Formats: sequence, C-alpha cells, structure tokens
Amino acid sequence: MPTVSEALSLMDYGPAPESPAVALDWLKGRTFGQFIAGAFTAPRDPFDSVNPATGAVLAQVSQGSEADVAAAVKAARAAARKWAGLSGGQRARHLYALARLMQKRERLFAVIESLDNGKPIRESRDIDVPLAVRHFYHHAGWAELIADEFPGMRPHGVCGQIIPWNFPLLMLAWKAAPALAAGNTVVLKPAEQTPLSALLFAELCIEAGLPKGVVNIVTGDGRTGAALVASDVDKIAFTGSTEVGRQIRRATAGSGKALTLELGGKSPFIVFAESDLDAAVEGVVDAIWFNQGEVCCAGSRILVQESVAERFTRRLKARMATLRVGDPLDKSTDIGAVVDRVQLDRIRGIVDQAVAEGAVLHQAPAPNGPGCFCPPALLTDLGAANIAMTEEIFGPVVALMTFRTPDEAVALANNTRYGLAASIWNENITAALDIAAQVKAGVVWINGTNLFDANAPFGGMRESGYGREGAREGMLAYLTGAGAGGRARNAPEALSPLPAGASGDAVDRTRKLYIGGAQKRPDGGYSYAVPGAQVPLGGRKDIRNAVEAAHKAGGWSRVTGHNRAQVLYFLAENLNARARDLGPGDEVAQAVERAFYWAAWADKYDGKVHSTASSQVTLAMKEPFGVMGIVCPEEAPLLGFVSTVLPAIAMGNRVIAVPSQANPVPALDLVQVLDTSDVPGGVVNIVTGPRAELTDTLAKHDDVAALWVFADATTCANAETQSAGNLKPVWTDPLTRDWSGPQGQSREFLRRAVQVKTVWVPYGA
Ligand code: NDP
Repeated sequence: MPTVSEALSLMDYGPAPESPAVALDWLKGRTFGQFIAGAFTAPRDPFDSVNPATGAVLAQVSQGSEADVAAAVKAARAAARKWAGLSGGQRARHLYALARLMQKRERLFAVIESLDNGKPIRESRDIDVPLAVRHFYHHAGWAELIADEFPGMRPHGVCGQIIPWNFPLLMLAWKAAPALAAGNTVVLKPAEQTPLSALLFAELCIEAGLPKGVVNIVTGDGRTGAALVASDVDKIAFTGSTEVGRQIRRATAGSGKALTLELGGKSPFIVFAESDLDAAVEGVVDAIWFNQGEVCCAGSRILVQESVAERFTRRLKARMATLRVGDPLDKSTDIGAVVDRVQLDRIRGIVDQAVAEGAVLHQAPAPNGPGCFCPPALLTDLGAANIAMTEEIFGPVVALMTFRTPDEAVALANNTRYGLAASIWNENITAALDIAAQVKAGVVWINGTNLFDANAPFGGMRESGYGREGAREGMLAYLTGAGAGGRARNAPEALSPLPAGASGDAVDRTRKLYIGGAQKRPDGGYSYAVPGAQVPLGGRKDIRNAVEAAHKAGGWSRVTGHNRAQVLYFLAENLNARARDLGPGDEVAQAVERAFYWAAWADKYDGKVHSTASSQVTLAMKEPFGVMGIVCPEEAPLLGFVSTVLPAIAMGNRVIAVPSQANPVPALDLVQVLDTSDVPGGVVNIVTGPRAELTDTLAKHDDVAALWVFADATTCANAETQSAGNLKPVWTDPLTRDWSGPQGQSREFLRRAVQVKTVWVPYGA
C-alpha cells in the first residue's frame, strides 16, 4: 500500500473532455460562402478548414476573389453613411447586443476556436472568448460616449481588417469592436487556417439585427488579404507577421489609406535575482507556453540574472516537465496543437538551426499521432546572435541567457529590431520600474505577463508596428480629425547647385546648416540661390550627421516636461525679442504666439491611468519617439517650421528638420534664437536642400524613429514606401494648411509626436 504522499506523486489526471457535439452540429460539414451585406453568398472555390489536432476536416470555406472583396467593400461603403449617422447611443445598443449574444454562445465559440486553431479549451474558454466579449462591452461604452470624448473627430469610413490565426475571435473583437464603435463599417479577413469563429460571428450579426453591410467577412488566403489592401477602403488594420506588414506598408503608400500595424515580436522576459523565482517560473508558463507560444507578445527570450540562473533553470525544467501536451478539448491539457503543419515545420526548422548554432535543447518527445504537436522547449547555452534569440519562432520554444547587471539586461532586452512587449520580474518595484522606463516596448508587465484588457492599449514600437488597440488610445486609431483640406501641394522646382565660390560669393558667406548645435558647411560644399541669399545644399551625408547629433542629444528626452517648457518659453521670448529682425508681417507674430502655445503643452500632454479588470494599475505613458524627421511645409516658411518642430521637441523628441526649400532663410535665422535659448545642441538640426531627396534619406534611415512630411504627393508617397524598412510611423500631409489657425496647432501634432507605453504595475492584492 503506497503512502499518501507516494499516492499523490503517482496520481495522474483522468480524461476531462469537452464535448464537440454542439460545435460539430453547427458545422455539419458545411461549406461557407462569403458574408456580404448581411447574408452568405453561394460558396465558391472552397478549401478545407482543418482541425490541427486530428487532421479532420471541420468545414469548407470559400477562397475570396477580388470580386468578392469588391462586393464586400461596396456593401460596407453603402452602409457607411447611415451607420456613422446613428447616434453614439444607437450604435452602442448594437454593440451591446453583439456582446450579449457572444456571451450566450461562449461555449460554442470556445469549442469552435479550439477545434479550428488547436488551442486548449481552457484557454479559449477562460481567456479568448471572455476577453472578446469584454471588448464588445467596453466598446459599446465608447460608442455611447463618442461625442463627449472625441469631439470634432469622425470615422474613417470603410475599414479593411486582416487578422492572423493565433487568436481568431479575439483579434476579430480587437479590430471590429473599436471600428464599429467609432462609426466605421468593416470588411474583415480572417486567416485561412482559422475562419470558423468569424463565420459564427457573422451569424450573430444577423441575429443581432446589425444593419446589413456594417460587418462583412471575406475568407481566403493571403491573396484575398492583398485584394482587400488594394481595394477602395479608407483604412487598413493588420495584425500578423512583420514581413507582410512591410508589404502592406508599401502597397498602401500614397493611397491616403490610414494604416495601423500590429506585427511580430521577440519580447524579453527579464528575471532579476530579487524576483520571486517560483512566480517567475509560473510567469514563463504564461509567457511562452500559453497558446503554444503562438503569441505575438510571447516572452520568448528569458534573460536571467547570473547569480540565480542555475536555480531558476532547474525549477523551470521541473515545471516544464509537468506540462501536458495533447487533446485541445481535454480540460487538463496545457499545450494543444500548433495551428498547422507549415507552422510546425517552421518551428522545428528554427530549433534545429538554433541547435546547429550551439544551443542546447531541452524538450520531451512529441506525442504520437497525426496531430501538429510541439512539446514545450527550452534552449540554453546560446549567445545573443543565435537565431532563437533573434527570430520570432511563434511556437512553445523559449531561449534563455544570462546577464550580470541591470544595464546589461536593458542592453540585451533592447537588442532586437522589435519592440512589442517586455516582462520584468523583481520584487523591488523601484528597480523594476527603472528597467520599464528603459526598455523599448509598447507593453511592459511588472511581475506579470500576457495581461490583456479592453481598457489597456496594446501595440508595438519599432518593427513591431504602430497604432494601439484597446482603450481610449485604440479608439483614436479608428477616428480622424477634420483634415487639412487645402489644395494639393506642388513639388518645389529643381535646384541648381552652385559650387563653392560661385556668384562671386565665398562659401563662408553663404548660410550654413545647423547640426549638433553648430553651424556646418554642407558635406558636398554646394549651395543654391534663393531670393536674397545663398543657402547650403544639404545631402545624404548631412542628414546622417544630423541623425547622429540628434542621437547624442538623448538627454532632452529624459528631462522633465517642466524643464522643456522653460526652454520653450525662453525660446518664445527670444523669438519675440528678435521679431523685427526676422522680418515684417503677421507670420512672425503668429510664430511667436505658436511658440508660447507649444511651450504651454510641454508638461501637460500626459498619460493616463487605466482601470483594467485585474489588480493592477495600468499606466499609459506617452513617450517621445526619440529622433524624428520633420519635412516642414513649403508654405509659411517660419510659421510652418515653428508649428511642426516645436510640438515635437516639446514632447521630448530631437528633430532633423528640413525647412521650406524655396525660402529656408527664416528657419536658418532661427538658429541664433535656438542658440540663445538653452536648446541643447542636437535637439533641433536643420538641413536645407532638395526636399524630395532629403525626405527619402530620412524615410530610409533606420535610426529615425518617426517622420512627418508636409510636402507634395509624390514626396509623401515615397516617404511611406521607404519607411517600410524600419517601419517608422510616417505622418504625411500633401495638402496645404492654413498654419495661422487651428490647422496649425491641433492635438494631432502632440499625438503624432509620442508613442504609448502601457505599463502594468501590481496594485493591491
Ligand atoms: P501572415 O502575416 O502571413 O498572416 C496574417 C494575415 O495576413 C492572414 O490573414 C494572412 O492570410 C494575411 N496575408 C498574408 N499575406 C498577405 C498579403 N500579401 N496582403 C494582405 N494580407 C496578407 O502570417 P502567417 O500566418 O503566414 O504566419 C507566418 C509567421 O508570421 C508566423 O510563423 C509567425 O512568426 C508570424 N505571425 C505573427 C503574428 C503576430 O501577431 N505577430 C500573427 C501570425 C503570424 P492567410 O492566413 O490566409 O495567409
């Protein structure tokens, strides 16, 4: 007879299967058409939707053609005006109805999701579906409050939304709920592997009496997605791989379509010696083994402090051995099936390469059978350059390396092109928050991981994309301002370079560029003539020097808003004192007023504390991008410069400004004002010259984090195309503005000068 403790150690879980009967009854081997204008079309060009745990075909769905996409967009367009014209309260009632119906069908949704995606029922039942429902409730609230909370803003119109396969229903909710609340209509394309929950949602739209055409769902593969991107929509919202994100950036360049991208990640999971190691081990389970690691913000790089690394790794391996891999519908399964064979092969391929590069793999054998199962894995003994440390694996595989000092932890954490999330484990909250401030990530969890809520903004920095989903910040992605609405800008005339000493003028007597707080000759030594002056012809090398100088001025981003305000007030005063020298006319007086205006904002455009569903305070911090490029408008050479450069530096950015090409003299005259106003060298850099070329260089530059372009349509479009490299957010405006009025000082300038970092801090029990 075993003792009680022996019996406990021998006990295993019995089977606890969730019945698929209701879901299979709903599917009944159906073949679905497209959901357009409130009804399903006849199926065409069908393909299988497969259960990755068994290989069984669940249903067939149609491959959406260009014509299907066009029909869906047409239906959405036809419904748009009426939907946007409803009162917020009326739209809210529709969203409530959808939320309530989803809640009523929670179990059906959960089973469909687990069948189609392979995720454990415990996760679809307890996480995906309740969060999706919460999203609709939360956004019903925003619909209700829209006129009060977003005055002067309007919906984009028709939104094309493309979602991946890892959280099919939840991603639908993240995209559709805010779009609808804001008054947009929607054409949504689910991933080809996991379309079923979206089709069930389509049925709910009918049942809820949603007006026809407000939600349209087009199934198909990447070609259908590309057709949606190319179609007549007003906005594209995409979640998926960084590579496809880049393609979409290029495809939408110059189209005027608004774009938000939620892309990949390689998020650090940082364990300090002062952390609760057992809690951190449990954190890893949620960070990388949750949802088979198919999570964009998965903590896939463990960085553990050397002094506890051995202890931590031992406990982690012990915990990993307890995870149960198998039938997604069994309630005691921790890790279900990977979405398909392609993804499984991809995971295995990267793991093999990591091992070939020297990593040591700790992983149990995969269960037998036809399913796409990948047991949880830990890779150790690897360096920062190992593929498992650099590439998004999107599977239950975590790489572990050590660090010694907090500075090293930050350096390793930021040693990636991504910037989606970070998880920091340290019982010393002061130390943890110090790291939170330094990591480049859109979401930071302190002593926690993978926490989500409809009222917490989610989204990335760097190559993880831009735009936020959730909360007030997420609503802004589906609303737009009044728009400038001026006439199209013309491209400036081609320049005729003058070599040094031309026109009898020594190059020393021409104006100079302003880089790093000093006046510099252009690298090429050329200048060009404008009325009354000869100005430097800056080029690629000058932009690069300016970017370097701006990077060195990083202290500006760390000083308080109050300090920045003091500098800007001083600048405004000095501008006023020199008003007469800067030329006659209203423009100078307006520039002085504008400078005071932006000085006033420097310490006021602050973040929010969001109330989320758990025992956390969730801070939405507004952080500067760092180094920004600003191509100032041709019109209003002084006022346009002041109106764009000052809000960016008020928010803590350092700027490379390209002033008006035809008349850069007023901007160059500001150099003395900047010098006498305690603006640190490198915070404002001015490069004059051919705008199109300088803009191109700024757009391509990997160390420029954001770009504003107030220029002709061709220059704007090219900037968008070239920005696909490091995926910097680009704000383009090809229409002239009246810079003297509200178009010159709206909140949009502040919003576009910051990125939100969401920090989840434990609060209360
Ligand atoms: P994709 O980025 O290809 O897919 C995301 C969505 O975009 C799907 O709906 C897809 O359609 C669609 N799509 C594909 N090509 C285009 C296109 N040219 N234009 C418009 N839409 C398009 O991801 P995959 O599913 O191929 O996964 C590949 C890798 O991407 C994964 O291994 C993982 O590393 C990463 N990934 C990251 C995600 C994240 O959230 N960060 C989510 C999903 C994947 P379809 O599915 O039909 O091809």
